[in-house]
Amino acid sequence: MGLKARMWILFILISIIHAGGILIFIKGFLLKRSVVLKNNTCHVDFTMKVDNHEEEGCWMHRRFQKAIVIIIDALRFDFAYYNTSIIKGQELPFENKLKIIHEKLIHSPQKSRLYRFIADPPTTTLQRLKGLTTGSLPTFVDAGSNFASSEITEDNIIDQLRRQQKSIVQMGDDTWEGLFPNRFIRSYPFPSFNVKDLHTVDNGIIKNLIPELKKSGWDMLIAHFLGVDHCGHRFGPYHPVMGEKLTQMNDVLRSVIKTMDNDTVLFVLGDHGMTRTGDHGGDSKDEVDAALFVYSPSKLTETVAPKLEDSPSVSQIDLVPTMSLLLGVPVPFSNLGMIIPELFDHGPWAQAGTSEVKQVFHKIKALRLNAHQVKEYLHAYSLISEDFPKHQYKDLNTLFSLSENELQRLIMNIYHNGEHEDLLSRLEKLETNYKSYLTNVRGMCQGIWAKFDTTSMSLGLFLTCFSIGITVFQLFHTNSQERFEVAFWTSTAVSGWSSAFVAVLWFSLMEAKTAIMLGTMFFGFSIILIVGFIIYKLMMARGSEQSSTPSLSGYFSIHGICAILITFMYFCGFFSNSYVVFEDSMSSFLLQSLLWIQSTFIYAQQCGTEPSKQISEKKRAKFDIFRTLTNRKMKPLYLALTFNLCVRLSMNFRACREEQWTCETSSFLLPLSSFTDSIPLKNARYFFSVIAIILPSIGLRWFLKHYGNLNGKSLLVLSTKYCIPIGMLFIALYWALQALPPQVLDSLPVTRLFPRIVYVANLITIVAVFVNPLSIYILPKATMESHYEPTAKISNNIIPQMYNQMKDSLNELSENEHKTTNGAETSDDVELPVVYGLATVYSSAMIIFTAAVTEILYLLLGDGVAASLSLALCNIFIGLEMYTCWKCWMKDTSWDVPWSVIVLWGLMSSQYFFATGHQATVPTIKWEAAFTGFHGDFESHILPGLLIHLNTFASEVLVSLTLPLILCWPLFRTSRYSIRKGSSDNWNEGADKGELVLIENSVQFQLCVFKLGLGYVLFHAVKLLGSMLAAAVLRRHLMVWKIFAPRFIFQSVSFITIYVVVIMSVGLMQHVHSHLGGWLNRLEKTK
Ligand SMILES: [Zn+2]
Ligand SMILES: [Zn+2]
Repeated sequence: MGLKARMWILFILISIIHAGGILIFIKGFLLKRSVVLKNNTCHVDFTMKVDNHEEEGCWMHRRFQKAIVIIIDALRFDFAYYNTSIIKGQELPFENKLKIIHEKLIHSPQKSRLYRFIADPPTTTLQRLKGLTTGSLPTFVDAGSNFASSEITEDNIIDQLRRQQKSIVQMGDDTWEGLFPNRFIRSYPFPSFNVKDLHTVDNGIIKNLIPELKKSGWDMLIAHFLGVDHCGHRFGPYHPVMGEKLTQMNDVLRSVIKTMDNDTVLFVLGDHGMTRTGDHGGDSKDEVDAALFVYSPSKLTETVAPKLEDSPSVSQIDLVPTMSLLLGVPVPFSNLGMIIPELFDHGPWAQAGTSEVKQVFHKIKALRLNAHQVKEYLHAYSLISEDFPKHQYKDLNTLFSLSENELQRLIMNIYHNGEHEDLLSRLEKLETNYKSYLTNVRGMCQGIWAKFDTTSMSLGLFLTCFSIGITVFQLFHTNSQERFEVAFWTSTAVSGWSSAFVAVLWFSLMEAKTAIMLGTMFFGFSIILIVGFIIYKLMMARGSEQSSTPSLSGYFSIHGICAILITFMYFCGFFSNSYVVFEDSMSSFLLQSLLWIQSTFIYAQQCGTEPSKQISEKKRAKFDIFRTLTNRKMKPLYLALTFNLCVRLSMNFRACREEQWTCETSSFLLPLSSFTDSIPLKNARYFFSVIAIILPSIGLRWFLKHYGNLNGKSLLVLSTKYCIPIGMLFIALYWALQALPPQVLDSLPVTRLFPRIVYVANLITIVAVFVNPLSIYILPKATMESHYEPTAKISNNIIPQMYNQMKDSLNELSENEHKTTNGAETSDDVELPVVYGLATVYSSAMIIFTAAVTEILYLLLGDGVAASLSLALCNIFIGLEMYTCWKCWMKDTSWDVPWSVIVLWGLMSSQYFFATGHQATVPTIKWEAAFTGFHGDFESHILPGLLIHLNTFASEVLVSLTLPLILCWPLFRTSRYSIRKGSSDNWNEGADKGELVLIENSVQFQLCVFKLGLGYVLFHAVKLLGSMLAAAVLRRHLMVWKIFAPRFIFQSVSFITIYVVVIMSVGLMQHVHSHLGGWLNRLEKTK
């Protein structure tokens, strides 16, 4: 087993422990509510036997025969509410468009009601539909499964209706089909995923709605419109298209109302609202405040209508019991909602309208049924789970039996004495009691379903700490092969056994008590650690002669300690809600601080290394501002300034979190088509973005040409030469199309063609890198003379490397005098071939690969924020140059990358996560990325998931990919320095070989690449631990679901992404390494 294999085993073992830690933690943290699989039937013991409704309903006499449910997705309350104070012509696009609602409220106050319809977060459509049909409260874990909607198994109103032989017709959003397969007698599903498509679903419904309404044979008709929601996602509520969409909805409602008969009730509702930017998913007021409009052509309620301005609030889960009892079917078993009482005070069959007592009594009957149903559910739930706090549960039961007894007394009273004067007030008191019972139950349930499994959480945390421990241990033992071996056996043994132990623990003791679990865990891990320690000591003793002590200089130098402090500060930031909210500012502050510490350190180092003679000479010389400023010593400071500038500029691309109330949305985040009023601004932004993405590709070309990696006709060279510019061209064209009005854009087939060309072009490049990553070129021998002359002339542009150079060093023939920069010049061996591009053979492969990936990321990020990625590239370049400077002034030829440089890379990836328009919240996820190049009717969710993922973690992917460049860059860049200085001051002997030194010291290469990758992963693992620990410690915090839980989830996904990308880039380095080795061998043989 070679060094390489061992490295991979360690990488994989550590990743297994990390993944295990994350998964186990998630299991304990994002708990699911237990599902009670029980259904309510007509024959329950709490329905009054005397009250037999037979055909006219189950628990209660039904009020309506048919119901029309129109869901306008994302119908915010203020979309439905008519604001009379707004002057006509000055309303915003979403204001005062649903005029029909206003007309009905004014002209038929007892036949219509408008409510604020409060959603329980998460405000995603799937979660809302579950709540709207089952009446249950959502748990956080459901939020993640939005795209994998599965059939609802809990009792729900659809199944209740079907059990009473009612027929349901559904049209619109196809999510319903997934939730309730085969439940509808007729359905007209339309795809819901394509948020760019504003019309397909709505037009499909409109075509079928009225004909369906006129048909007989249905009892409930559900129409789910998506246009308003999609318009919000695409343009936001302030766009004129929103006005058109709402006007269209107004027309739909008007024609629906026209067809209604007296026995039909209409519910128009939004499943959630939307933010100012048109997104939803969180729990801000704008997202939670939906609208509910109830209407019937016959009298709905006896209650006097409230003033229009103060529409009452009802919860979304209240819809289920209300609808059930109005239609005379049992309330679903798991419902926790409360009926809307005022809709139950009018009962024409019971002459409830005749007296106030009868009205209240009728209401109480409905409330009582509701309370009984909830009580049954609590009882069933308490049998399968011990979640409910005992005293609270008992208090609720007491309140319930008090109300029941009072009701019995009242009924007896009426029976014996008839209506008497204090009857009404007693009835009203009873009504309040039932209401408060139902409200308190909901409160208790909301409290307990945020209950955590602390055993799993602590095990998850422990595993994360454990793998961080192994990583640190391994990092300290990677400075020599012997030490690596010793640590390898220890780490493998310890981590292998612990994974097995945890797996066994998990499956055998999952149901056991916390104490037993923790005890076994503690005991097991102690044994594993002790055995690991013994192995370590034995191995150390055996190889004590060779193994040297670890060099800690990289970690405990001044900048190293500063970097550790900065990592620690980042770690601590996760524990404060305001730090997490303003993490974008925090990460850029820490990044800039670390950079200045480094550049000051390099500057100080330079002054320290300067010979005293020169200093005294300089002191004598007059102070010359120009000379001071152009001094090479100033380079790190200039680099740092440019770096700072880039970071500052990148802040313009940040998105706003809802909690950052002073933040204003950057105009880079708006779609190009929304610049409707300013054409010059539109053009300026477009050309700015295009130039921003073209500049790096010019840089790439120049770099490859300069180092001779762009010669020949290999697949890699050709694809770099042609595919990358073609990709750029089509990105620019695609962005130009974005400026078109959306209606025109949707009908153009090229909107999908252009991005696909970009994907294909870059995939070709990526494949080319994997097929043959060597972008080197052997000058043909026969034509050597003719080719040689021009090469010499442009020797500044192309550094050819003579094969004999590395052959010499391979054979350790140091007396060979042929070495010069341009090789062939002094060579008397004419047979030797000239090879271009060897000095940058590793980095060119890395850079070409990165370029192809970056181009795809540009495309996915879109024309607004793509420019920010170019700033990231600029920062990476400066970081590399700075590190090279550092190496030169330190005269450091070791390949050990200091900890502080790794932390710099880590902080850059965090910084640009925010600077590419992202935040760690659900509403800021850019769903539209899934439609770059695709229409949206996806078969599976893998591809759209991947595209959204790449968009979200673009910065992590890019920065982590360039990680191995830290190792390579100084190798060929310092060669320039030392050569310029001449051989007299040649501190770096291997400098003129560039990256070829890597192949000469294969063992050291493997160790350094491994160490670099592992160190980088360590930084992110510390961040992961921070967010995990914060979520665990602050799980009772008010803001846990809003701030800490999403932060932890984003961090774990980003960590996994980074781990994968690091493995990819390390793998690519080794791929180049083995290819180069093979190439050298073949060359050897041909000679
Ligand atoms: Zn929705
Ligand atoms: Zn939506």
